[in-house]
Amino acid sequence: MKKRKFIKIIILGLLSSFATLQAFAQKIKKVIKSDKEWKKILTNHQYYILRKEGTEKPFTSPLNNEKRKGEYLCAGCKTPLFSSKKKYDSGTGWPSFFDHYPNVIATKLDFKLLIPRTEYHCVICEGHQGHVFEDGPQPTGKRYCNNGASLTFKPKV
Ligand SMILES: [Zn+2]
Repeated sequence: MKKRKFIKIIILGLLSSFATLQAFAQKIKKVIKSDKEWKKILTNHQYYILRKEGTEKPFTSPLNNEKRKGEYLCAGCKTPLFSSKKKYDSGTGWPSFFDHYPNVIATKLDFKLLIPRTEYHCVICEGHQGHVFEDGPQPTGKRYCNNGASLTFKPKV
């Protein structure tokens, strides 16, 4: 009897955590598209970076020198990822930010180079944005080194 009760508790626990996960998944509403669909709405360059984790050449994105106030949206799903208030000139040739909007960025380790780096992507469409480093300015000390091609700038009106 005791064992049964224990199992029941475990099952209930699993069910409730599953329900929480489901609620979370519903709340963020992911954008999921096939490769074919992405190719239709993105340029070849954007597709290579967002969907194949490519990297643009430094100093090639006009967003590198963008200084206006506004928001930087994911070029794949138009979710606002960064505010111009958190942008700074890192001198690297890529648009750089020291922080992002909450709950829109997820990270994973990338082993493409000899030293593992932390890749980050948009939570909503899983489009690759860039890499995050620990040499950014305060208060976060982070440098979100973003491909300009993965972003769309929306000036504040
Ligand atoms: Zn996105």
